[in-house]
Formats: sequence, structure tokens, C-alpha cells
Amino acid sequence: MPSHNLAYIKIDELEIIGYSVAGEETVVAMPQLDVCFDVGKAPDQIIPINHVLLTHGHMDHAAGVAYYLSHRNFSGQSPGTILIPENLVDPLRDIIDAWGRLDGNKISANLVGVKAGDEYPIKPNLFTRVFPTKHSRGSVGYCVIEKRKKIKPEYAQLTGSQIVELKRQGIEIDYPLEIPIVTYLGDTQYVDFSQLKYIVESKVLIAECTFYDAEHADRAQAGKHMHISEFAALVDKLQNEHIIITHTTQRTPMREIRKMLKESLSPEKFSRIILLMDKRQK
Ligand SMILES: [Zn+2]
Ligand SMILES: [Zn+2]
Repeated sequence: MPSHNLAYIKIDELEIIGYSVAGEETVVAMPQLDVCFDVGKAPDQIIPINHVLLTHGHMDHAAGVAYYLSHRNFSGQSPGTILIPENLVDPLRDIIDAWGRLDGNKISANLVGVKAGDEYPIKPNLFTRVFPTKHSRGSVGYCVIEKRKKIKPEYAQLTGSQIVELKRQGIEIDYPLEIPIVTYLGDTQYVDFSQLKYIVESKVLIAECTFYDAEHADRAQAGKHMHISEFAALVDKLQNEHIIITHTTQRTPMREIRKMLKESLSPEKFSRIILLMDKRQK
């Protein structure tokens, strides 16, 4: 029995399941990529996913870590891997150890501290690249990138046996290509992410947009979140095919949010927008 009614989105072959309300809970999983961005309160549907990529330590994003680990252990799964900003590894380990003492069983965990610029393998052809965000000390976002090999243009016309022969001679006939699949910003105030090509070109962007009212620009600034005016300026510079908005509030109804987005974005950008919480399963 699932613990939550999560939102469900399908983009081509990629499924996205999650829940994200500011201050309450944020968790966004992509099962085919085997990653879960933030863990929220660890809804049952995300427990089998092997990589949890934490952006920062706020309770609404990270509270479920111990439950995730203990539930995996309980159902005979490996601890998986938890990526977390490196300055938060020690406090998270303390919490996990304290839960282990409460629970009467040591909880095993594989915590990997990360900082901007790091890369970490997810699958043989998939890795994540870490970039800085502006929210809390050490906070980061993640881009999941597919590695492909593409044949060099000068060899494109060769037959199979000619290719085999060149390879036998040790000649490099292909070059590495990176396909950014998804970028998850987590919580962040406005940063010009268009400086990072892999973010600009990610097929899917998952971005927070917490504040909508014109008079809430100061609150966005104070809480280090994005206001709709900044969000509009940001996505204007990006090329993502699909833009999923997370971290909305209960304060502003979904239909109001949709209306304001329509007014703030070009029709072309607006057509790419998906509000995560609009896709909640009943
Ligand atoms: Zn948050
Ligand atoms: Zn936060």
C-alpha cells in the first residue's frame, strides 16, 4: 500500500514520480534512471531506488533518510547510495546512528559527500554532475547525463568489417558524447544557470518556483527561493524541452499559479511547463 498519493508524469520513456510542497515535503524520483532527487519523508514508492541525491539538509527534503535506509534493510535490499553536500555528511551520520540506537539495530549507510564540480557514476552509461546552488551552505543541484559514443564523421560511411579492422589497429573511430537528460535544481534563489551548458541543454529541467505574488519578491529573497519573475528570466535563457515546477505552496492555488505563469512566460515556454503537483494521482 503506497504511503502517499504521488504525482506521476511520463515524458517519452521516462517516468517521474514525486511530491513537492514548500516547507512540507519534496521528493522527485526517476525510476528508469535509478535516482531520487531529495527524499522527503521517504514515500514507499521510492524505497527501491538505489541512488538518493540530496541537495541540502532542510527537513522537508531530507527527513526520510533513516526510514529509507531501515526500510531497505528490512526488505533485504542493499543500503543504496546517498549523495549529500560534503559539509552535511557528519551530521547525517550522527542522525542515522542515533536512529539505529533508538531502533536497536545499527543502520548501514553509504554516504557520499559531494561538492560542486564532482561527478558520480549511476549506471555504466549514466552519471551525475554536481553544481552549486544558492540556498544553504554547501547546497547543490544535480544533472544526470548519459554517456554515448558517436562515430567520427570521417568514418561514418565505413562498413562493419572496415570498422572492425580499424579497431584492430587501435584507431579511435568514435568520440564521447554527453547527453544531459535531467537537471534538478532543488531549492535555490535565482542563479544564472544558463552559464552551464549541460543545464541549458538538459531535456528535462526540474526547478523550484516558490513565490508568485508581486509583493512576495522580498520573501523569496529572504528564504533564498525563486520568485516567478526570476523563474521567468531564468527559463527564458534555457532550452529545456520540458520544465517541471516543484516547491509550490498551498498558499497560492494551482489555477492561480498556472494563470500567473501564462502571463509571465512566452506561449512557447508556457507550453513546456508542467506543475508537478497538478499531476497528483487521485
Ligand atoms: Zn524546501
Ligand atoms: Zn530548503
